[in-house]
Amino acid sequence: MKILDTGKPSLHVFEMLESEVRSYCRSFPTIFTRAKGCTLWDAAGEAYLDFFAGAGALNYGHNNDDIKKKLIEYIQQDGVTHSLDMATAAKESFLEQFQRIILQPRGLSYKIQFPGPTGANSVESALKLARKVTGRSTIIGFTNAFHGMTLGALSVTGNKFKRKGAGVPLHHTVSMPYDGYMSDQVNTIEYMRNYIDDSGSGVSLPAAIIVETIQGEGGINVASIEWLRSLEMLCKEKGILLIVDDVQMGCGRTGTFFSFEAAGIKPDIVCLSKSIGGYGLPMALTLIAPELDIWEPGEHNGTFRGNNLAFVTAAEALKYWKTNQFSDEIFAKGELLKSGLQDMVASYPHLKGQVRGRGLMQGIAFETQGLAEKICERAFSKGLIMETSGTDSEVAKIMPPLIITESELKNGLELLYTSIKEIAAESYSGEWRRNNDR
Ligand SMILES: *Cc1c(COP(=O)(O)O)cnc(C)c1O
Repeated sequence: MKILDTGKPSLHVFEMLESEVRSYCRSFPTIFTRAKGCTLWDAAGEAYLDFFAGAGALNYGHNNDDIKKKLIEYIQQDGVTHSLDMATAAKESFLEQFQRIILQPRGLSYKIQFPGPTGANSVESALKLARKVTGRSTIIGFTNAFHGMTLGALSVTGNKFKRKGAGVPLHHTVSMPYDGYMSDQVNTIEYMRNYIDDSGSGVSLPAAIIVETIQGEGGINVASIEWLRSLEMLCKEKGILLIVDDVQMGCGRTGTFFSFEAAGIKPDIVCLSKSIGGYGLPMALTLIAPELDIWEPGEHNGTFRGNNLAFVTAAEALKYWKTNQFSDEIFAKGELLKSGLQDMVASYPHLKGQVRGRGLMQGIAFETQGLAEKICERAFSKGLIMETSGTDSEVAKIMPPLIITESELKNGLELLYTSIKEIAAESYSGEWRRNNDR
């Protein structure tokens, strides 16, 4: 590995050998070597505070000590690593604990499917099952939704660029306006109801509606509690299955284990991945209302559904949910984050920032094209890792590991504040605008 005069490691090998499809290494151009808790270090010894948390796959932090210990013990006693969907002790233990710690106390009753170990695979399984159960083909998705990059998941994803990558028409879906998409005055559930009710609308009765309670990739758009309840009611009334894609917002991101708990709704199918493995190891679940579990054995299978290392770490991570303490802490840190962001927005009104989100999924949306990207780039140069979201990358997104300490959170906010201050000064002087007019 070569360290350049700039003090940064050279990315030459990646530029030469890795496909152009690579993306995050372009936003964070260095070579990482070590990670612990909320910090990453690069080959030059530089430390970076992580406000990205592996896109939500590292809710319990990097190399969490308690989880790591269980993993090492398991490997050292030659515990089964790969098992397709054979019964293993590691899976048994995870299933029992998930039932006891997560489902039972919340009054939720689900059969648990292990699809391939990605969010997209959980979404595919949910769409397939909804179609099989209802015998109908249409799925309603929402504007600005993100559900993954495989064909079925893309068919209910909003982003034009990502959809285009499919290379084939994405069929059998209808996109409807998410909460707040049209204006504050339009109730988009009533709007959708008209389409479903009207025999002249051109929209046939869907098998399912798939929704994120907060659209993380789509720009941190938050659905109101009221809207989610009306959505559930509409689905019940019409016999439409409700699928909540909790791949990113689940596992505590918004403060509760499931993001829909605040609304008190009970989806028919729930997709979980990202942090369910607890340690950044690949794993996904599809939770299915028991009466809908009409799969034939092997009807949705895959080679890597039995990632036992992830079952071990997932089971250990559930310990965070045995009491309300973890949840309370996330809410408290969420408040701290919110007030920090609101201060920044108020300090630089000419940037026209708007604070969005809840829990430890928040961000600032900017009207000016390119501003959020510029801020994230500046933040990285100061040792803070954060990403943009939204169709036009208009939102600077903050999603640290949930185990972040208050002082780490404050440090990160300080770095972000300085970045915004500098960019604000440059945009005042016109420098930023000139650079972006090219
Ligand atoms: C990340 C994500 C997915 C896709 O998960 P992959 O593991 O990347 O396939 C699906 N839905 C949501 C809401 C996500 O955030």
